[in-house]
Amino acid sequence: MLTQWLTHFSLHRTATSGEPDRPKPEIGVSACLLGRPVRYNGETKSAPVLTELLLQHIQMQEFCPEVGIGLPVPRPPIQAVSYDDGIRIVGVEQPENDFTAALTHYAHTVPRTLHGFVLKARSPSCAVRSAPLLNTRGEQIDLVSGQFSHTLQQRFPCMPICDESTLSDSQAVHAFLLCVYFYQHWHTAQSLVQVYLWRDALMRLGAEHMDTGTRTSLMHYIECLAAHSQ
Ligand code: SF4
Repeated sequence: MLTQWLTHFSLHRTATSGEPDRPKPEIGVSACLLGRPVRYNGETKSAPVLTELLLQHIQMQEFCPEVGIGLPVPRPPIQAVSYDDGIRIVGVEQPENDFTAALTHYAHTVPRTLHGFVLKARSPSCAVRSAPLLNTRGEQIDLVSGQFSHTLQQRFPCMPICDESTLSDSQAVHAFLLCVYFYQHWHTAQSLVQVYLWRDALMRLGAEHMDTGTRTSLMHYIECLAAHSQ
């Protein structure tokens, strides 16, 4: 399916009409999804089917923000809590331990050369709109992004960033990968003309090749690229 889509949008990596070959796109991935035992309890949350599917098409670089800021494995768990002055990532047992600034700083060390992220759902560091947000009485009041992923979304508003909970079938994975390819091509020139060509190509793609939900989310993504093009 992905190969068909890449052909339709002229996003081949192989040289055509004299253009140089492009390297495979590279994304960041939560280290625990790749089988690294870095979670607070010393365990992993590996997702072999997902990572195999991704590896067929792209390169991956692993990140564990909590280890990256110097926390040990195992470590006391942390959580997102809403205070009067905003959301903070603090220790569950010791809320005076505040990791918000360290996780924000770590997200600012991520290289601009990456083309997307797949992160761990429900984590106060890595989740994308799926981490429980608690009030100071310990009651869940919302779902939010983790501090690392939230900072990445602010730094790179057009970068495809999701957590693994949204990549539940191969069509969703391939749609994400298509956005990664769009982003790789877009982020060099940020050409509005190119974005309009992709939008026209998406409208020409037959219903037998893409379901309505995927088409709608890709159209939103292309509109985001258009809004940020020069
Ligand atoms: S969810 Fe993120 S911070 Fe937590 S163990 Fe996995 S990679 Fe590390």
